[in-house]
Amino acid sequence: MFENDGRPGIMANNPDKNNTVIIIGGGFAGLTTALSLAKYQHHPPIVLIEPQQNFVFLPLLFELVSGEIKYWQIAHPYIHMLSKRGISLIKERVVSIDCDSQKVNTSSGQTLKYAQLVISTGLGSESLDIPGLQEHSLMFQSLIDVKRIREHIKRIKLSDNPKKNFLVIGGGSTGVELCCKLADLLKGTISLHLIELEKQLLSKSRAFNREQAQKALKAKGVHVYLQTKVIEITKDVVKLESYSNDTVVNSSIQHQGIVWTAGRKVVVPALNPPIILKNHRLPINSHLEVKGLRNVLAIGDIAFNEEKTWPSNAQVAVQQGIAASKVLIALQKNQIPNSFEFEDRGEMLSLGCGQATITAFGITFSGPIAFQIRKIIYITKFPDFSTGLRTASAWLMGL
Ligand SMILES: Cc1cc2nc3c(=O)[nH]c(=O)nc-3n(C[C@H](O)[C@H](O)[C@H](O)COP(=O)(O)OP(=O)(O)OC[C@H]3O[C@@H](n4cnc5c(N)ncnc54)[C@H](O)[C@@H]3O)c2cc1C
Repeated sequence: MFENDGRPGIMANNPDKNNTVIIIGGGFAGLTTALSLAKYQHHPPIVLIEPQQNFVFLPLLFELVSGEIKYWQIAHPYIHMLSKRGISLIKERVVSIDCDSQKVNTSSGQTLKYAQLVISTGLGSESLDIPGLQEHSLMFQSLIDVKRIREHIKRIKLSDNPKKNFLVIGGGSTGVELCCKLADLLKGTISLHLIELEKQLLSKSRAFNREQAQKALKAKGVHVYLQTKVIEITKDVVKLESYSNDTVVNSSIQHQGIVWTAGRKVVVPALNPPIILKNHRLPINSHLEVKGLRNVLAIGDIAFNEEKTWPSNAQVAVQQGIAASKVLIALQKNQIPNSFEFEDRGEMLSLGCGQATITAFGITFSGPIAFQIRKIIYITKFPDFSTGLRTASAWLMGL
């Protein structure tokens, strides 16, 4: 499907135009690139290729699980954000990219020529190769995953099995935040277990936020397992391997549900010529260009820079999206683009219903005020200001 606002010169497959920018993937990185590029007065034709109907503001997915916000407040149709800005949307998946002829091929068989390409396809839904993982665990990365988790919670609450264990795998920010919400939702009807491979939870987080999270998990009665690896999952049992002082202890937990948050693989459309991935991602230089390819940028979770390793999060993706638009314009003018510099603006974590912790600008605080401030900050971070404003009004009116 090809959708645009009818403005002349916006068609991606116009043979007379040779400066079309194609962006593959409309997550934080790709959508920000498209919107930033469209702000330039004489911007090139912009085409965003994205299979989903809605952009989803993932940092608020936890509040969707708990019912603290509504679906429409975090899921925004691409077409509303793009058409008024003259950005064409192709609601499809890119299957392959021929960098020699500068063409991308979509799942329906369309071939589109680009002058410059941005790859921002993020992480796929496929996770690690652990026996039974795909079949027996829930994921947490999309609206459909939230629906499945909510349905599962309902079933657990209705079941009369007295020994109920629910496991969250992965003690990074996603696992910890989800665990805190689940603990509040399930309130003692089930034992919650959080499994982490590292020696501590939230190993990439700020010390204050980590401490607050540990306190919250303890207060909510969550059982935390550190230095523990999942080795197999069956319908009813999770097999674990724990490491301490050079000894390995095997154990298993009977479960009534598992959510996996401990990592996913990137899925890069087939590239010709093929590129060797670094750290399982596309290697990029400081200008966000894929090493070894001309006129191709990669940004967001899919990209990896060996010299400076930026975290994989929405903050980096958005900043790279803005930077990518500047790089594209500079390259079109045959200028040398500026290097991308990540500006770390702090970290916010939700720690259950109505609770959060924030470390930013040298200040640390937690509790219900942090929860409200986190909400306000996120509204200002919505890629499209008007949708943020709509969400803000709904919150203020208690809708
Ligand atoms: C539950 C959850 C909570 C999070 N909370 C936070 C948080 O609080 N703070 C924070 O900074 N980060 C958070 N993150 C991480 C953050 O969301 C990601 O780092 C960010 O989304 C990466 O942006 P991206 O554009 O690279 O990829 P994504 O946002 O994953 O977007 C990739 C897009 O590409 C599309 N796509 C994939 N393959 C193709 C293809 N072949 N053709 C066309 N399109 C394709 C996908 O449909 C998707 O829309 C969270 C992530 C999750 C899952």
